[in-house]
Amino acid sequence: NTNNRRYERRGVKPMTMSVPLGVKRKSLRIVVTGGAGFVGSHLVDRLIDRGDSVIVVDNFFTGRKENLAHHFGNPRFELIRHDVVEPILLEVDQIYHLACPASPVHYKFNPVKTIKTNVVGTLNMLGLAKRVGARFLLTSTSEVYGDPLQHPQAETYWGNVNPIGVRSCYDEGKRTAETLTMDYHRGLGIEVRIARIFNTYGPRMCIDDGRVVSNFVAQALRKEPLTVYGDGKQTRSFQYVSDLVEGLMRLMEGEHVGPFNLGNPGEFTMLELAEVVQETIDRNAKIEFRPNTEDDPHKRKPDISKAKELLGWEPTVSLRKGLPLMVSDFRQRIFGEQKDGFG
Ligand code: NAD
Ligand code: UDP
Ligand code: UDP
Repeated sequence: NTNNRRYERRGVKPMTMSVPLGVKRKSLRIVVTGGAGFVGSHLVDRLIDRGDSVIVVDNFFTGRKENLAHHFGNPRFELIRHDVVEPILLEVDQIYHLACPASPVHYKFNPVKTIKTNVVGTLNMLGLAKRVGARFLLTSTSEVYGDPLQHPQAETYWGNVNPIGVRSCYDEGKRTAETLTMDYHRGLGIEVRIARIFNTYGPRMCIDDGRVVSNFVAQALRKEPLTVYGDGKQTRSFQYVSDLVEGLMRLMEGEHVGPFNLGNPGEFTMLELAEVVQETIDRNAKIEFRPNTEDDPHKRKPDISKAKELLGWEPTVSLRKGLPLMVSDFRQRIFGEQKDGFG
């Protein structure tokens, strides 16, 4: 299609991921929206390492300059303070569109802004992709499945989502973003990719963002009780951030639109997660039960057969291996000990 031809005119093979040793691959210009955030900053590290030029567009709502400070001064790196709800003109080959708060506490803080970010922000980035012929990747979410009636969730499942609930700004926002993405693809021939990301953790998460892994880790380090919401029997499946970044890059470089579930199928109840945190940080950490939040999904676990088959991807870092890596980053940020390169 047109976009493929545009890629080829620039000497870029759109479908190839690995380049044989000794062959020089043309460096790409890539925009990462939300690149100052948790996932985005790890993605930027990989893209810069691989030799590409990266422009981060971020309004710093939940992101931090510190996550990117190690790239300041690199001529292949640029950071723009910009809100994706406003149009922007850039010349790029690929767009990784991550801008959107991900923690329930953050996305419920200003729900109308969350919807605008998901709908108008995504529309602007698709408009940009259309104007310059860039390939566009949307980071959607497992929340599009809502409180799922199918377990584990495969991409073919349409979900069970409350359209008028307190989480709707996020999950309906992402569902609309997926719709826009597919309509730009079908109607205008834009090259698109859709990832449905399941709960992800790792270094650089906001310490007080209210997500369960960051809460438990910070609480255990501060010698506070771990706050388990509800009866603690609800489940989630936790993916380490490096596995996710690998999946996103394979998806962008591959030939399949998706959507693809990107998550770790290892499923834990919140009480089991609390136990792993106790084993990792403090065996004596106490557990305190709190009322659960509204519309909390009861269970969540990805079926990743499609990503395994078509992207050759699966996670490699288990919760017990990944958690200690996050703990050392949190320890340093909470107690101000010497940095180890993650900060
Ligand atoms: P994050 O909050 O750490 O990062 C989001 C980034 O987007 C921040 O840097 C924030 O400042 C920026 N941002 C927010 N609104 C913006 C706007 N209007 N204009 C410009 N920048 C804006 O979250 P994250 O965990 O890194 O998530 C990144 C993406 O992955 C999000 O789209 C999220 O929905 C998706 N996702 C994440 C998870 C997860 O478990 N981390 C799960 C599912 C989906
Ligand atoms: N847009 C943008 N940067 C670009 C091109 C478009 O931010 O380089 C925005 C544009 O302002 C519009 C949206 O993307 O709000 C959708 O653009 P498109 O061209 O698809 O639609 P139109 O402008 O025709 O409504
Ligand atoms: N949760 C909890 N204690 C906390 C924070 C969250 O038990 O301190 C629970 C929450 O009720 C939900 C699960 O952990 O059932 C995952 O919540 P999170 O906000 O991390 O992500 P999401 O709900 O978006 O999957």
